[in-house]
Amino acid sequence: MLAVAATSDSAVNAHVAAVGRERNVLVNVVDVAELSSFIVPAIVDRSPLVIAISSGGVAPVLARLVRERLESLIDESYGSLTGLFERWRSRIKAAFPDVAARRRFYEQAVRGLVAQRVRARQPESAEHEMRALVECGATPRAGSVILVGAGPGDPGLLTLNALRALQQADVILHDRLVSEDVLSLARRDAERISVGKMAGGHAVGQGRIHKLMLEHARAGRNVVRLKGGDPFIFGRGGEELEFLAEHGIAFEVVPGITAAVACGAYAGIPLTHRDHSQSVRLVTAHCGESLDTLDWLALAQERQTTAFYMGVAGLATLGERLIGHGRAAATPVAVVENGSRPEQRVTLCTLEALADLARTGGIRSPALVIVGEVAALAARLHWFGASPRTWDALRAAA
Ligand code: SAH
Repeated sequence: MLAVAATSDSAVNAHVAAVGRERNVLVNVVDVAELSSFIVPAIVDRSPLVIAISSGGVAPVLARLVRERLESLIDESYGSLTGLFERWRSRIKAAFPDVAARRRFYEQAVRGLVAQRVRARQPESAEHEMRALVECGATPRAGSVILVGAGPGDPGLLTLNALRALQQADVILHDRLVSEDVLSLARRDAERISVGKMAGGHAVGQGRIHKLMLEHARAGRNVVRLKGGDPFIFGRGGEELEFLAEHGIAFEVVPGITAAVACGAYAGIPLTHRDHSQSVRLVTAHCGESLDTLDWLALAQERQTTAFYMGVAGLATLGERLIGHGRAAATPVAVVENGSRPEQRVTLCTLEALADLARTGGIRSPALVIVGEVAALAARLHWFGASPRTWDALRAAA
């Protein structure tokens, strides 16, 4: 019925093709479209859903590229979802004999809670939603919210799940910290609402953000709540989910690369190191009050790394408190501004130089302050963007 000619001898391959034609046997001659009576497509296998991609044999590499794109877009849960429909098919047909009604049903199932539960790997809950939908018919579609970490700025640091969420969003509520490069990957016709907050001057209150999420989800939209870095690290993601849970709105969470991890990587600072640091802490230095409640004695221990978020305004205080509680004045510090972005700037100094750096260094938010022995490694291990400035060089220039 079917033959594949894959020898390295083109005469043999041509002969196979000719014999095949004579005997009505389908033949594929590998990489020779003219001799082939069928072509083997590239496939994306989410069985029972299978997507075949073919360039008719003229551009297999391009077909493979398209396959890779689809692989990343169509996640594994599509297989489970298709399987679920397979199991329910006859019941669905019986419940919705009218074709138009049946189509409405499927629309709702693939875009709504059934698919959402499958993505969240909750098969029982997905069955439950399916049953409810089959028994009660199409009710107004409930939307859901995906809380997505956008990472520190470099769009390459988005996860595949984040990309999928962005490409399927109807509405995107994003923070100011989310880079334009990341936003440009979102679905073109998604409505974008900036709810950015400046340190100090709150642009949109938290209550208003909650209200927007609720309104759009209740209107049946796929809402993406997009936050810089990771949504659960100093991102108020917890509060937003508590609010959604209270109001019965379904949600998912896509983690992102948090600033400490990204800034460490992009500045050449391993946050832990066998020789220099056995632990890492992520600490907020947001304002006077939070600075007072920190456990400075613990933070002043040697051989550990502390990543201070939101520390620009408190730079001088950070240095003073740590030294005051016993950390060596010469402890290395790296200040990473705009980590992972083209304009990234790294400044290397010591704890005792922080106060001067705060006055004269022109440090701007967003910046992450990494304190600990490992910070010195940036001098040797930096690889991204401009070379680090050192405090000594800055002072000499002044
Ligand atoms: N959820 C975010 C943090 C929000 S708090 C995360 O996980 O990264 C905002 C603080 O994060 C900023 O004040 C700054 O300290 C830090 N930050 C965020 N993006 C940054 C970047 N690209 N470079 C340096 N610091 C960054």
